[in-house]
Amino acid sequence: MSESAGVAAGAAVPTTSARLVEQIRDEVLQRQRFLITSHARPDGDSIGSQLAMAFALDALGKDVRIINADPPPPHYLEFPGVNRIEIATEVAAGVEADALIVMECGDLGRTGVKGFEPYFIINIDHHVGNRMYGTVNWFDESAAACAEMVFDVVRALDVPMTREIASHIYLAIITDTGSFHHSNITPRTFDICRQAVEAGVNPAAMARRIFDSNSFGKLKLIGALLDRMELADEGRLAVLYLDDAMLEACGCTHNDTEGLINLPLTAREIQAVVFFKVADDGVRVSMRSKYDVDVRIVANAFGGGGHKNAAGFTVNGPLDEVRDAILDQVKTAVAEGVQERPTSVV
Ligand code: AMP
Ligand code: MN
Repeated sequence: MSESAGVAAGAAVPTTSARLVEQIRDEVLQRQRFLITSHARPDGDSIGSQLAMAFALDALGKDVRIINADPPPPHYLEFPGVNRIEIATEVAAGVEADALIVMECGDLGRTGVKGFEPYFIINIDHHVGNRMYGTVNWFDESAAACAEMVFDVVRALDVPMTREIASHIYLAIITDTGSFHHSNITPRTFDICRQAVEAGVNPAAMARRIFDSNSFGKLKLIGALLDRMELADEGRLAVLYLDDAMLEACGCTHNDTEGLINLPLTAREIQAVVFFKVADDGVRVSMRSKYDVDVRIVANAFGGGGHKNAAGFTVNGPLDEVRDAILDQVKTAVAEGVQERPTSVV
């Protein structure tokens, strides 16, 4: 059942989410010094959730530091406050804080930052399988983006919905829904976006900035990737490969790969995409799917996680050894989830 604190406001019996939002509000209000973090290799939802939360805490006069294992993708650097993210894989000794807010992480290891364990942890996440590692744990799988949950916290804190906060929440939602393609979208998603636009977000500018900020090198990389794309499972499954040589030939880095995985899904027949990013120390595997094809099950089987339509994991070893086993499992997911007739749009 969907438990939305926002939608349930005013209901006679508070939902679990509503109670947790109140608890987080109370824990935040009685503390002063905050650390904020999210997962390694940040995406739009991790950046947006962290910055929206940071601006809300700023407004309350709190001390806030954001610590991430990896830098944000370059096209997010122009978003307000992103340059305040500190990059470190370990919390420096003696860093004092009254609470650590972890967003978007099923377990603390996903942060990629060592030394977070001793803090008072507020865990806010929407990934199925969250390990409830916090002192306070709010997990809501019905949220299309973690930033939907952050939105509820910001409202509960009674902080004005500034353009900065709204922009980060909108950024998180538009990216985590695959620009409104995934099956995790609810009326609440649009209600929050509506309020973000009311607060001054310009949807056209946001979409252009987020999705149309490619370099010429990235356009070349798109060509190279699609040229090498393989089709399997009678055209229902696309497989993409990327290695350092391809990146180098196009003048790109791993930071330029965001969004590329969605390209094959624009073909009507293709139901799922597996993207193998091969590096010296292993293979990073990303998956995307349409409708009810559940790639999270595959990610779980290989020690990763994610959502039904977007999931991933890392393999420590050569691609040849794991490729077929992974593709077999994705084919099973396609067979189980594929819709024989296209979903009606009305
Ligand atoms: P990506 O393909 O890296 O964009 O990830 C897609 C989704 O899967 C995101 O929600 C990630 O947070 C999640 N995900 C990716 N890798 C992992 C992992 N190793 N463990 C848990 N979740 C993951
Ligand atoms: Mn997310």
